[in-house]
Parts: sequence; C-alpha cells; structure tokens
Amino acid sequence: MKISKNKVAQIFREIADFLSIKGENPFRIRAYEKAADALEHLSGDLEELYRRGKLKGVPGIGKGMLEKIEVLLSTGTLPAYEQLRAEFPPGLVEILSIPEVGPKTVKLLYEKVGVKSVDDLEMAVQSHKLRNLPGMGAKTEENIVKGLKLYRMRRSRILLGTALPLVGEVILELRERASSWIEKISPAGSLRRGKETIGDIDILVTSSNPSSLMDAFTSLSFVNDILAKGETKSSILTPQGLQIDLRVVAPESFGAAIQYFTGSKSHNINLRERAIKRGLKINEYGVFTQEGKKIAGEREEEVYHCLDLSFIPPELREDRGEIEAAEEDKLPHLLTEEDIKGDFHIHTTGSDGRDSIEDMIQRAREKGYQYIAITDHSSSLKVARGLSEQDVLSQAERIKKINSSLNNFRVFSGTEVDIRADGTLDFSDEVLKKLDIVIAAVHTGFKQDERKMTSRVIKALQNPYVKILAHPTGRLLGEREACAIDLNKVMQVAKDRGVWLEVNSQPQRLDLNDVWAREAKRRKIPIVINTDAHNKQSLDLIKLGVVTARRGWLEKEDVINTLPLDKLLTLLK
Ligand SMILES: [Zn+2]
Ligand SMILES: [Zn+2]
Repeated sequence: MKISKNKVAQIFREIADFLSIKGENPFRIRAYEKAADALEHLSGDLEELYRRGKLKGVPGIGKGMLEKIEVLLSTGTLPAYEQLRAEFPPGLVEILSIPEVGPKTVKLLYEKVGVKSVDDLEMAVQSHKLRNLPGMGAKTEENIVKGLKLYRMRRSRILLGTALPLVGEVILELRERASSWIEKISPAGSLRRGKETIGDIDILVTSSNPSSLMDAFTSLSFVNDILAKGETKSSILTPQGLQIDLRVVAPESFGAAIQYFTGSKSHNINLRERAIKRGLKINEYGVFTQEGKKIAGEREEEVYHCLDLSFIPPELREDRGEIEAAEEDKLPHLLTEEDIKGDFHIHTTGSDGRDSIEDMIQRAREKGYQYIAITDHSSSLKVARGLSEQDVLSQAERIKKINSSLNNFRVFSGTEVDIRADGTLDFSDEVLKKLDIVIAAVHTGFKQDERKMTSRVIKALQNPYVKILAHPTGRLLGEREACAIDLNKVMQVAKDRGVWLEVNSQPQRLDLNDVWAREAKRRKIPIVINTDAHNKQSLDLIKLGVVTARRGWLEKEDVINTLPLDKLLTLLK
C-alpha cells in the first residue's frame, strides 16, 4: 500500500513518543517531531515530492529524516520503528496524550504498576494505586483524574481549527480526483455551524456518478480505515482518528438535506414543530404539504422561507432565540472575515514568535489590513522569552521608524503584559504609558480560587494604560479548563474602564467563547478579535475568531478591529 505523508508523520510522532518514554536525547526526539510537523504542512503527494527531489532543504527534514522517509516509501515501514514497537506494549504511547501525564510518569507507571494502556491507568487511579509511588501523591493522582477526563473529551471531539483545514483538503483532493462527478459539495454538521470542537464530519454532495465518486472517496490519501462503503454513503477514518462521512443526495433535495444535516438537533426540532403547526412536514428530502406535495428542497433558503422565517446563518442554529428573531426579521447582520481591518495581538521574534515585525506587516498587508499591534510578552514570562522594560521601549522606537516608511498602514507598539499573581502588572506605568496598545493577560497561577482570580484581573484592568484583556478565561480546549473567574464582575469593570475584551482566535483558546461574546455585546462592551499569532501564517486563524464571534451574534459594529484606520485613530485619542 502506498504510504501517505500523514501516515509517515504519524510514525515519526510515535517514534518520538517511544524515545521520550525511554528518556532518550531530547534533540533526537525533537528531530522526529519537527519532521512530522514539516510533513503535515507540505502540500502535494509525498512520493512525487520525493521523486522530484522537493523534500531536500525543507526546513525540519534533515538528511537523516530524508533517509527514513525513503525507507518508508520503499518498504512501508522502518526497522527502528518496528524495534521500538516490539519493546513496549501497544497501548503505552497513547497514555502520553493524557494531559498531566509525561513520559517519566508513563515509564514509572508501566514498570511499577504494570499500566499498559489508558484503561489500565483508569483502573489504577480508581483503586488509588498511584499515590504511594515515589514522587507521586494524592495531588498528582487527582491531576491525572482531571487529565483523563479531558482526554476522554478530546478523543471524541476534535478542534474546529484542526477540522476546518482538514475538511478543506479532503474536498480539494476529492475534486482533483473526481471533479466531473461532483456538482454541489459542502460540509454540514457542527463544522458548518462553527462549533469549537467537532465530532464526526458530514460532507454532502450531489453527483452524476455516485459509485465512482465513492470509489474516489474511499481511496483518498486521508484514509486510514474504511468504516463503510455504499452507493450513497461511505465513511472513512483519518489517521487522526476522525470519522468523515460522505453522503450523496439528489439535487432537488440538496437544500433540505444540508439544512437537516447541519443541525443542531434542537434547532431542527423547533423547525419541525413549526412546520407541523403550519400543516407541513419537513425532513431531509424537503418540505411537504399534508397531501405530500413538495414545496421546497432544492435550496436551503426555501426551507426557512416556507416556514415564514428569514434565512438563519448556520452559526446561529443552536436554539438560542434565532428562530424567534428570524420570525420578526430581527436576525443580526453577522460580521464577516472581510470586515476585519487589523489585528491587535501579535508576537514576533522579539519574544517567542517565529517571524519579524516586517514579516508580520507584509502578511497583514497581503490580507488587506490597515494596522497591527506588536504585543510581545513581558519579562516575567520566561518560557516565552519575555521582553525587559528596556527591550520593549527600544522595540517601540524601532516601530516608530518603521511607521515613518509606511503608507496607509500603521504599526502600533505594544505589549502583552503579564498580570502577576497579586494583580500587579509586569511593567511599570512609566513604560506602559509610552506604548500604543497594552494588553493584559494571565499566563500563570491558574489554580487560584474564584475570589482571588477575579480581584486579580479586576486590579489589572484598573491600570489606566490597559486597553485589552486577552484570553479572559485562560482555557485550553482539551488541556486546561477555564480558570475560576467571575466574568460578570470583570465585564462590569471592563465597561466602566473602557477596556476591550478579546476573542482570541487560537484553535485551543477561542476565548471569550461564543456565549460570553454575546453577553459582552448585550452589555455593549467592545470586542476585539485577535489571532495571538506567533508566526505570519497564523494571522489566518482570524477566521476561527470570526466564526466564534458570529456564533455570539456579533455584528461589525460590535467589533473594534473592523474600524478603518482613521476611525480607529480618532477612537484611540
Ligand atoms: Zn497570552
Ligand atoms: Zn499572546
């Protein structure tokens, strides 16, 4: 069987995991991880790229890794990999994907308690076998329980930020292989609604040749396993363990089907009840009268119009009042990605970013932006190579110079200043007042109780120079829950002080989330949608923030960085 780049990346990651359990040299481990990263970001067929010599010089794929890819391409496996697999039980590596469980712990658990899989670990935890191990205790055991919970959640859901590009690639490859058999094609389900995490993925398609299309689908390079293959529906499993279903529907039912499969369930239940009240029947094939006459189905809009509703954008279909609003023609005019004119939260090589200020400007201009703010970390955040007060002031000087050479574009100097455990900020007011944009954020000490955390953040917002509160709850989906914080109180202070609240677009953050973003809008607190980009490609993550804001019913007027530069400058004065 031909080996895909995703499969090779998966093997490299597994090798890295084995080596880390063995306690091998971190540089060697990192080399495998880097190569896996590089492979996942390549576009094109691996074998072809290899044959044409295009893998040489790809950052992250050195000579050694290239040789290993060569062996994998010609034999389908790697001796070093097989050896490692023979050395450990098959379920061991999986334990590493549990938050709070590192390689040393895995090794310890395996050697001392015989834990060979996630299920073993679950049992060991339940019978409190871990707390008496060297270097462990009740607290560690408790953390592992929390980690297991997050792990179970993550197993069943993947991040929107992972699913969106993946589905894009699946559809692209399907189009390449079967373009003449594809008419309409669209993802449905929670992905189309833009939920922060996604279960299975549904793709709907109309086709002149369903059986050839199904052949093409089940032989895509993303296929790790074929779960089902039929005339009108097939299911595949990707190497990441994600299930993708492709359904062929009739052109005259496409609108009804995409409505039906987009959900949400409770939104659809409401629609169905509404249809019944009007003497109509609604299902995945269309809208029908009692006599069975079809009155809609080809276009999704018609389905809503038949029920005396204006068209409801997929992001709103959560049964949170959208049907009532559609009835009165009072749905929000949701903002779009094109409305975004700048980004206020950007890291560069100054701290832990990968690209320079100039690179970020260039990419931002390509996106049609009119401004960005450079907001590297402050000194106490050592892991992120935070800037000292002197560093940030000289960076601001440099930005002034850069600005003098730019037309129709503005770079704001700034910082993402750390909110210390006691609510004081990492930089003095003397420094902060010389910067254009001050973002305050919590990065450590997430385990404080609600009273402490709330007053800590409120104290920070009372600083006269703070303009933005970044990722207000600190959650990392599948890794860390939102910290205990009373956002209602925080919002009140933000409103009084004129602080903007961030919707952070990082796939694991999406923080504020949709519900809190809507609450901010209700309270008339301005929102900024930022990427928190650490490299120039990540500026494109803005779409995730925009989707989240749309789910929070936000309109252009609710979001500060939809303002054109001149209006923004007036506001900042
Ligand atoms: Zn941050
Ligand atoms: Zn940041």
